[in-house]
Amino acid sequence: MTPRLWAAGTFAVLLVALIVFAVLTVPRHRSPAPRADQLAALQQLPAEKVDRGRAFHAALRPGSYASMVLGLVLALLLGLTPLGARLVELAGQPFGDHWLARAVLGGLAIVLLTELITLPLAAWRHTIVVRYGISTQSWGGWTVDLLKSLGLGAVLGAIVLAAFFTVTHFAPRWWWAFGAAGAAGLVVLLSFVLPVLVEPVFNKFTPMADGPLRTELLELAARDGVPVKDVLVADASRRTRAVNAYVSGLGPTRRIVVYDTMLTEATPDEVVSVAAHELGHAKDGDVLTGTILGALGAALAVVFLFLLGSWRWLLDLAGVDSIAEPRAIGLLLAVTTVAGLVAGPAQAWVSRRVEARADTHALALTGDPETFEAMQRRLGTVNLSDPDPPAWEHTMFASHPSTVQRMAAARAWARGER
Ligand SMILES: [Zn+2]
Repeated sequence: MTPRLWAAGTFAVLLVALIVFAVLTVPRHRSPAPRADQLAALQQLPAEKVDRGRAFHAALRPGSYASMVLGLVLALLLGLTPLGARLVELAGQPFGDHWLARAVLGGLAIVLLTELITLPLAAWRHTIVVRYGISTQSWGGWTVDLLKSLGLGAVLGAIVLAAFFTVTHFAPRWWWAFGAAGAAGLVVLLSFVLPVLVEPVFNKFTPMADGPLRTELLELAARDGVPVKDVLVADASRRTRAVNAYVSGLGPTRRIVVYDTMLTEATPDEVVSVAAHELGHAKDGDVLTGTILGALGAALAVVFLFLLGSWRWLLDLAGVDSIAEPRAIGLLLAVTTVAGLVAGPAQAWVSRRVEARADTHALALTGDPETFEAMQRRLGTVNLSDPDPPAWEHTMFASHPSTVQRMAAARAWARGER
């Protein structure tokens, strides 16, 4: 059997594994609460808040779509013309065209170029979130965050590029096997290690002071059978007014993290309701499920790239001899950008189903649909979400059920529809 045949077989096995795993783990049992409940919930939201949320999203929309289109056009330009290959060659020139220099510096040059070209749109976005009072960040703080994430991305990117092209260099026929295993391993590593590593770069965490809320949150976790090491408060207010809470870490490192904005904006009962939702994610192993889905997807993507690499027409467009050489980084970017756009709606759908299940968990754990609904209303208005976004936009991008869907779910739950 040739490596190509092995790759095709591996691709088929991974694809079946991904589908079977998704079917087994993604909750599909319940459709969103009746539209009538959603409309009733919408009626009860203060009209001026709804208008403001809609105006906010209307203001963001042109920039978001422009950024998406620009990113795609740029990726296609770098990948489906020899432009990307030329850029990689230039980056490697000072180092005698060494393949490793091309891989790392060429890759970083391409990523940096796309970042720079979409930077004005990111800045425009910042002016809008400041104007609507969501962001509390000055341009200085915004720039520092940007540099931090660029630096972090460069370090991570350099490691991945060096590793990937070392493998393709030394195993030109079997790199896809090592690459697939490596990509899957990387997803697992990042989802377990990255939060612990990255969170402190952007925020400071302090244990929540002893008091009734801390006690109640720890009791809630204990009652739910989800051991939690600590309750932490993140100093999110230095960049945002948005409220949020999440559970991070696995097993012995698991902790509940509450934005400090949440403590000033929401009532303690609402904080408990949000924490109950987050505990649902922990209890159902949603991080693990997401990690396994991501790992299978990443492995699948690498094998797909290898198979795609025998398509001569594509290689000729990019002006490269092989999809596995550093000069093909632009082509890799183009393929992954398109694949990301195609996979996006599926990922969003999975995410919405998982979020709806965590909502049901919160309702069952607290037995308090009124507070749950109040909390959704608060999250929606403070975070300026569009409570009932256009259907197609919701389908394509939304990671959570809409505010009115979540409020309506609480009403249905209260009626005994579980
Ligand atoms: Zn959630």
